[in-house]
Amino acid sequence: MRILVTGGAGFIGSHLCERLLCLGHDVICLDNFFTGSKDNIIHLMDNHRFELVRHDIVEPILLEVDRIYNLACPASPVHYQYNPVKTVKTSVMGTINMLGMAKRVKARILQASTSEVYGDPQVHPQTEDYWGNVNPIGIRSCYDEGKRVAETLMMDYHRQNGVDIRIIRIFNTYGPRMAENDGRVVSNFILQALRDQDITVYGNGSQTRSFCYVDDLVEGMIRMMECEDFTGPVNLGNPVENTILEFAEKIITITQSESKIVFKPLPQDDPKQRQPNISLATEKLRWEPVIDLETGLKKTADYFAAKMI
Ligand code: NAD
Ligand code: UDP
Repeated sequence: MRILVTGGAGFIGSHLCERLLCLGHDVICLDNFFTGSKDNIIHLMDNHRFELVRHDIVEPILLEVDRIYNLACPASPVHYQYNPVKTVKTSVMGTINMLGMAKRVKARILQASTSEVYGDPQVHPQTEDYWGNVNPIGIRSCYDEGKRVAETLMMDYHRQNGVDIRIIRIFNTYGPRMAENDGRVVSNFILQALRDQDITVYGNGSQTRSFCYVDDLVEGMIRMMECEDFTGPVNLGNPVENTILEFAEKIITITQSESKIVFKPLPQDDPKQRQPNISLATEKLRWEPVIDLETGLKKTADYFAAKMI
């Protein structure tokens, strides 16, 4: 198949492009390089089945493809809050453009949605039928509400125009090629630990997250895209939940660091707990993560350590 990956030069997108090429597909990677980088895909450039297009999905584009993975959108709070209006445009106008393409060429389209649609959840663990608890006017809402509208657009193009859609809600994912400067907890803590700097826990560290290794996520994404008669939304994440304080301690141990933990103010609207219920993914996709946190963190730490040399 010919497959378009928007946001293909980003962290998750680059792993997805790599896997799709391995499966024998032609891959078009489309990116505006806001948070993505050519370094993430440089090893794919010599492959004659790989094409790179510099483009912003807020602008329409004509391409002929069989599948569209729509990942284009900054994902870390630091980056999506840098230009919040642009973040909304990317999720709304960008998704309309990709849905328009899917409709025109009868391609199947998968939207990378997020656990952030659940906001600061009052249901725990989160199931797909929970409607969420999002602050519509807070500093995270450009991302959260943008993604919620993207889901609405997907469902309406499906109901109104018969577009073949898939929606996944991705929970915190980590691994090699996370941007060093994106402020997310995994890259921050690993880099701080490797440099023996203070580990900055926001709040008292009792908030929880559940971290999924990127290879597991990519497997789930492809299974969902190729699953028949199931639009989702479906949660994709690792259900093993940790407090952020436990997570900091784990990283210190894994990297054998001398770092000390320090406490910093908790950002506004920071969700208190997050853990996916993945029963639906297990039932429909026969999918569950197989890489445990220690193994995944070790691989990620090795990646960052190699970059520091
Ligand atoms: P990332 O920032 O590394 O990748 C996003 C990519 O999209 C970058 O290459 C960026 O340059 C590109 N991009 C941004 N705006 C664009 C635009 N207007 N036009 C074209 N390209 C644009 O982030 P990631 O972690 O790889 O996330 C990928 C997708 O998965 C995002 O849609 C994100 O919302 C979603 N997601 C990620 C996580 C996670 O934990 N990483 C969790 C939930 C959802
Ligand atoms: N966090 C932290 N220290 C950091 C970066 C993040 O304690 O240096 C916390 C953050 O407040 C949040 C959790 O780690 O509770 C996950 O943050 P991240 O930005 O990675 O993802 P998200 O909040 O979007 O899940």
